[in-house]
Amino acid sequence: MGDYDAVIIGCGIYGIAAARTYLELHPLARLVILESEEVIGDRVYDDFWTQTPLGMAEFSDSPLVLPRDQKTYHGFFPASYISDYLEKYLDSHHFNGQSLRDRVLFSKNVDCVTKVSDTWIITCEHTPMPFKARSLIVASGMTSEPHHPILPDKTRFKGEMLHQKRFGQSAFHDDQSVKNVTVLGGGKSAADIAYSYGKSGKSVSWIIREDGCGPSGHVRAEAKGPYESSVAMFNTRMASSFSPSNFTQRSCWSRFLHGTRLGRKMIGWIWEISDAQNRAHAGYKTRQGAGKGFELLEPDTPVFWQNDGSGIQQRPEFWDVIANKVNVYRSEITSLSDRNIVLQDGSTIPTDVLLCATGWDSSLKFFTLHESARLGLPVSVEHEDTETSQNWKQLEQLTRSSVLKRFPRLANPPSHFQRPASSTPYRLYKAIAPLDDPSVVILGHIQVGNNFAAAEVQALWATAFLDGRVALPGRREMEQEIAETYAWCRLRYLDKGQSGTFYYFDLVPYIDMLLADLGLNTHKRSWNRAHAGYKTRQGAGKGFELLEPDTPVFWQNDGSGIQQRPEFWDVIANKVNVYRSEITSLSDRNIVLQDGSTIPTDVLLCATGWDSSLKFFTLHESARLGLPVSVEHEDTETSQNWKQLEQLTRSSVLKRFPRLANPPSHFQRPASSTPYRLYKAIAPLDDPSVVILGHIQVGNNFAAAEVQALWATAFLDGRVALPGRREMEQEIAETYAWCRLRYLDKGQSGTFYYFDLVPYIDMLLADLGLNTHKRSWVGSMLSPIQARDLQGLLEESMTKLKNE
Ligand SMILES: Cc1cc2nc3c(=O)[nH]c(=O)nc-3n(C[C@H](O)[C@H](O)[C@H](O)COP(=O)(O)OP(=O)(O)OC[C@H]3O[C@@H](n4cnc5c(N)ncnc54)[C@H](O)[C@@H]3O)c2cc1C
Repeated sequence: MGDYDAVIIGCGIYGIAAARTYLELHPLARLVILESEEVIGDRVYDDFWTQTPLGMAEFSDSPLVLPRDQKTYHGFFPASYISDYLEKYLDSHHFNGQSLRDRVLFSKNVDCVTKVSDTWIITCEHTPMPFKARSLIVASGMTSEPHHPILPDKTRFKGEMLHQKRFGQSAFHDDQSVKNVTVLGGGKSAADIAYSYGKSGKSVSWIIREDGCGPSGHVRAEAKGPYESSVAMFNTRMASSFSPSNFTQRSCWSRFLHGTRLGRKMIGWIWEISDAQNRAHAGYKTRQGAGKGFELLEPDTPVFWQNDGSGIQQRPEFWDVIANKVNVYRSEITSLSDRNIVLQDGSTIPTDVLLCATGWDSSLKFFTLHESARLGLPVSVEHEDTETSQNWKQLEQLTRSSVLKRFPRLANPPSHFQRPASSTPYRLYKAIAPLDDPSVVILGHIQVGNNFAAAEVQALWATAFLDGRVALPGRREMEQEIAETYAWCRLRYLDKGQSGTFYYFDLVPYIDMLLADLGLNTHKRSWNRAHAGYKTRQGAGKGFELLEPDTPVFWQNDGSGIQQRPEFWDVIANKVNVYRSEITSLSDRNIVLQDGSTIPTDVLLCATGWDSSLKFFTLHESARLGLPVSVEHEDTETSQNWKQLEQLTRSSVLKRFPRLANPPSHFQRPASSTPYRLYKAIAPLDDPSVVILGHIQVGNNFAAAEVQALWATAFLDGRVALPGRREMEQEIAETYAWCRLRYLDKGQSGTFYYFDLVPYIDMLLADLGLNTHKRSWVGSMLSPIQARDLQGLLEESMTKLKNE
């Protein structure tokens, strides 16, 4: 075997992400992936569905597309499609003439890894020559090595016994001789297996041991508001901020939520509601006609603490199947014999197949004890030397108090199961990098809600680390950070937090932190863009992604509209092809574009906007009234005067709104007309007998029309107290300067007030001294302006008129 730049152990989500990222940055690198199995993801059974919905369960560069007739449930889908997706991913990515698959060596079970000077020596079972590499990427997964329980009288059991790892390949569902299946374990996978056998008509018993963390929680798949699923909702920055995460950057918002009584009360309440809803949905104590022991499935601790773990309950009939077809026991197994399991509570359970959903052992056994300790990987506590152990204990103690100061809520966990620590935790910097070896990274040894996102970002960080491009702090700071993460993890996730890498509700701040280390920001998105899914929408038609606006909504340079039809994006994505190009010719029933496309067309609909409706004024009259005229037609003196005024007022606008000094790069056409130069966008400077109404762009024309009408009538009646001419000119110039800065190309008219309706009508009404529309401060801050808010204005105006 030749020498490699990098060897990756494991070809799961993390190994594949690492290979792609590493090769993207080093296309010529000699890289190999060693995989112990013969294929990818061989353990997925049809009844197993994903824990993350479509759009999240995929890498950023390749959408996972389901067959059109494949049903999803709140975006969740059969997990077997993930294996297919990963297989295709290996084939579709090429670097230096080789696909990713070409670089995978299957059936290579790594059984020993050592380091000799600067070279990693990686030995595989049944492979005579070791692999040698400069860099080592460990991605062997946390669910690769079955944990087999120690059961009394195991050898006397005559039924089949298998671990969840082999559930996918087992054929017991269709085996008529298998009548009684017993599932052992309290986690989500035990629940999925019990459900699967229950559905297939077997007599199912489900044993959860008496001590231990207890049955896992089940979070409902559905969500409120614009979210398709609870997972999507939870993976927002807002929802993530409700969890006390040590990875979250300190901000006023996080201080309020976690550092103040009010904030803690608020989020405590949110978590309680969520927990109560999940419990009510399952109906542990209330479900009519539920089978034996159904109530024992209620988790011991609230979902916030995750001490029982939890999973998404992504099958609509899940609870019905469990309640009707499964008997639940919470007890210890005291003996096995023939085809029976005997429990401490005295029950005897007939069992043809015993399925052990009993979790996983470490997949890092290929490291020697010494190497594990050196790299900061878990080792049995007795094997850690006293000095090292003391050092970490001290650091953890110190950092524990700072965690509690930041998150006082963590000081009061509910009563919970807690096993004594038998291993040291992971002591990796950012849960990836050993403190003392820059040539190795450990990926995917974290527990998060969405492994795809975590895998991509860990891969980026890890590649930068191996390349020496991560700016690392001093050793002591890194130790402190590791200790603090561990102290926080223990306080936050109780027994589950003992590994130091259980980050169940922390994916978003965790990946934000890694990306911040790399100075990367591109992943931050606006709300509207996420909803449209320009780049992420499944099965969208040609050019759908071209609909993404060029500039942020704040600037309105592309304009915007309310998306008021729920099926709008689906219709556009499925039924419309989009082109962004110039028309070069039309012929017969075809339109030809500059990009070479020819579009057959029976009807061409031009939604190409509007020309001026003021053409009934002569050029001279338009200029006199301050209406737009072609720039060449404005006389030099007038033009100079306005330019000077605009220049002057521009700086005062920028002083007031410094943000406007830095617009994004944007389209800007040269001004061909002068702007509207009307006082308050209504009245000419030199003629009190005419008003121009509705030549503004605002969000609600009814409110604007009513208030402009009031102001204009007062103006025509000579009842508006006007300032001097120069002040009016200055105000017009300032409005124009602001409008140009605020709305870029759209602001050239001087009357584009898209986000300004409320202050605009407030200003007009203030000119008239009218007040009735004002609600209380809170009311006017939080309520939209509705028609009834303007009630009484006309009457107030008339009363004023009478009194004057
Ligand atoms: C039914 C089901 C649904 C799930 N749904 C989701 C989901 O929707 N979203 C999500 O993010 N996660 C989901 N998960 C969890 C997810 O599958 C795992 O967390 C994820 O696969 C972890 O990726 P990994 O690359 O770290 O590990 P793995 O996928 O386990 O890959 C590790 C690989 O390393 C190999 N390996 C291990 N030891 C060695 C060795 N000594 N030598 C060589 N090779 C070795 C293994 O064979 C394996 O192929 C689901 C899991 C299940 C069972």
